[in-house]
Amino acid sequence: MTSQTISNTPTPEQIRRAPKVLLHDHLDGGLRPGTIVELARDAGYDRLPDTDPGKLGVWFREAADSGSLERYLETFSHTVGVMQTRDALVRVARECAEDLAEDGVVYAEVRYAPEQHLEGGLSLEEVVEAVNEGFREGERLARESGHRIRVGALLTAMRHAARALEIAELANRYRDLGVVGFDIAGAEAGYPPTRHLDAFEYLKRENNHFTIHAGEAFGLPSIWQALQWCGADRLGHGVRIIDDIQVHADGSVKLGRLASYVRDKRIPLELCPSSNLQTGAAESYAEHPIGLLRRLHFRATVNTDNRLMSGTSMSKEFEHLVDAFGYSLDDMQWFSVNAMKSAFIPFDERLAMINDVIKPGYAELKSEWLFQQTASTSGSVDSEG
Ligand SMILES: [Zn+2]
Repeated sequence: MTSQTISNTPTPEQIRRAPKVLLHDHLDGGLRPGTIVELARDAGYDRLPDTDPGKLGVWFREAADSGSLERYLETFSHTVGVMQTRDALVRVARECAEDLAEDGVVYAEVRYAPEQHLEGGLSLEEVVEAVNEGFREGERLARESGHRIRVGALLTAMRHAARALEIAELANRYRDLGVVGFDIAGAEAGYPPTRHLDAFEYLKRENNHFTIHAGEAFGLPSIWQALQWCGADRLGHGVRIIDDIQVHADGSVKLGRLASYVRDKRIPLELCPSSNLQTGAAESYAEHPIGLLRRLHFRATVNTDNRLMSGTSMSKEFEHLVDAFGYSLDDMQWFSVNAMKSAFIPFDERLAMINDVIKPGYAELKSEWLFQQTASTSGSVDSEG
């Protein structure tokens, strides 16, 4: 509907200013390298591979890129390793909100696993309260420097552990107090989401929201289980839904039953292009399934996953997609509105974000673009799809 002939291609600077919505970002995957070094020093943590922030940042990206699961997991052992005190959690959450706001993100749901931050003696509740406090501080500091952001937390349970119900109860207890939903993450192989059915059934009984990491490395059965057994509201990644879509030589497309269901029910896909390239789920940005999924009008959203490990940001993700698919400001708005519609905050608040923040933000950028074009072209501008 929107992307064929319109050429209001955004510049990197416009991409940064454009209001963006992020649904899939890990708190322990987005620390500033300098913060890791300082927190490690304060905590007497001596296992960092480097104490120079620049070199450490490179080490994280290379380790995540190496194709070795061991090295990939090692990256998280360091970030989680320095996030074991209240002060550390407050700081990391505060900087996360500030960094996202600085990047033009206006609404974010950031996830973390409280059970991974108990080594310093904190309780699950203390972990949640520290992170909430950091997000609120970050929102305030962002506002003082002219940015507007709202951050909600998603509590993650680890697939290989057996605490999912406990974490789901925690998410429910802190509902309306900064926590907007629940997630499960960790290796898909050998740990199907159905192991945690009690947690999902509990959340459904409580009318609460959850997303499930599914269909990243693992294929359709993992997506099917997440939706039809567990009842997930959204799919973390879900990129392998592409395996249920046939594209014929003449360009016609046939959706299988599961792909049809996902599209018909408007199930949001939390797509993370750079992260998928690192894990081998896609070969290049141009070949990433997001191109086809956007064309077919799936409820596709753009996300960062782990900003530190992927050396990325929301703006960088969009820069790559603009390069690969020629996306316009209209496409960016389409993705952003899709994501906002899929957020776990109440409907009226989502609508207010769309009407008061996202649409006016894009309208301003598009009018700038039109202004620059006045002499030559008479571009017609669509609204989002
Ligand atoms: Zn993830």
